[in-house]
Amino acid sequence: MKTLVLSKMDVPGLVEALGETARLIGPRKKEHQFVFGQITKPEQLALEYPTTILPPSRQLFPNDEPLVRLRLDDVAASREIVEGEKTILLGVHPCDVQGINILDEVFSDSPPDANYLTRRSQTIIIALECQAPCSPYNLCFDKGTYRLEWGYDLLMIDLGDRYFVFTRTGAGEELIGDLPFFRAATPADREALGRARETQAGSFKTRLAGPVNRLPNALKEAYDDLLWEAVGRRCLSCETCTNVCPTCYCFDVADEVELDLVNGTRCRQWDSCQSCTFAEVAGGENFRPRPSERQRHRLFKKEVYQYEKYGRSACVGCGRCSAQCVASIRLNEMYNQVLGG
Ligand code: SF4
Ligand code: SF4
Repeated sequence: MKTLVLSKMDVPGLVEALGETARLIGPRKKEHQFVFGQITKPEQLALEYPTTILPPSRQLFPNDEPLVRLRLDDVAASREIVEGEKTILLGVHPCDVQGINILDEVFSDSPPDANYLTRRSQTIIIALECQAPCSPYNLCFDKGTYRLEWGYDLLMIDLGDRYFVFTRTGAGEELIGDLPFFRAATPADREALGRARETQAGSFKTRLAGPVNRLPNALKEAYDDLLWEAVGRRCLSCETCTNVCPTCYCFDVADEVELDLVNGTRCRQWDSCQSCTFAEVAGGENFRPRPSERQRHRLFKKEVYQYEKYGRSACVGCGRCSAQCVASIRLNEMYNQVLGG
């Protein structure tokens, strides 16, 4: 690991240089909010963003993608579509890096997902530590996701007029190897980093009534709690909470046939456990027909089922689901209720 410094005056030059080597994706302003999108000019980059509408993991797992080019008259002539291009994700906050780490684990599981993994293998992540919480709903301090130990190639920390930069991987070091914008960190830079981190730690607060490692059991104990009915009465099943989540990955697969009835495409599209028909099967049976059951399932998937399978939570505490819920259903309030707060 190297410790380097990048002056903020050199960020435009860096953006131009990176954009020449790969598709550069970073935070951009969109009306009064921010989105991850392609950066073709330095002035488009908005590194001082609080959070984005959709997480950067959606660059790796798009909402609609072709999987197979179909030949209905000759099935053996059908061809898988696996595409990727060298991409740099710049300015990714720690919780969103951890969201990508979770998708890496899920999509590497058997059977491995070639589409996701091909894109991921060509992606370099330049993370950016947050200086303060981005919303009243994020749980990154409780979840321990406000800082990063791994999962990135380069990590930037704002020191005011400059960024302190940690390199984590060979790919990260290679990316900036010949660029003239970086210098070795000095003892004064390291002192400034210590001060910045102290200020940062003081600004993050716990929002939960108990430790997060109690959530799996607390949720199981609350399986029949009236909480789910209360939440279900307000939930509109709009699916926003799952669409904005960096760790939701459910999808549906459908075949689209062209008018010649010979060619077609097998596509996948995001799906959501909050959709009324998500758990409907042939014959019309629906295993989770009510919003209360679907909301309970969402929280169990994050904190119980993935914990049992992978030994970790699948919620990185980004707060998007709470901040964007049209019915003001807040994850932190539900967690607090089951934790007894
Ligand atoms: S965003 Fe809110 S209203 Fe929409 S499905 Fe999720 S919890 Fe229900
Ligand atoms: S469940 Fe909500 S807070 Fe947790 S990662 Fe998903 S969107 Fe973020």
